[in-house]
Amino acid sequence: MGKYKIEYQRSGCIGAGVCAALCEKHWVMADDGKADLVGAKNEGELNVKEIDETELDCNKQAAEGCPANVIHIIDKKTGEKIV
Ligand code: SF4
Repeated sequence: MGKYKIEYQRSGCIGAGVCAALCEKHWVMADDGKADLVGAKNEGELNVKEIDETELDCNKQAAEGCPANVIHIIDKKTGEKIV
């Protein structure tokens, strides 16, 4: 179980590719021009994926760099939204 949860609202992605450039292990550009969060599950409107501490850095950069602000990271223990 990961310590953090990534929530990605794919419908709002504008295909800027920042996430895939900064964190290529977790983010790839799909044929429809939007980003996919690798290994994510669908939860309603969101694609979600749990990550641990070692995976936080580049995902945080991706979330902070996303111009559409559709990537958020939550600390599961405290419920705090890190990004
Ligand atoms: S950085 Fe944001 S808008 Fe750009 S491809 Fe990634 S999710 Fe989409």
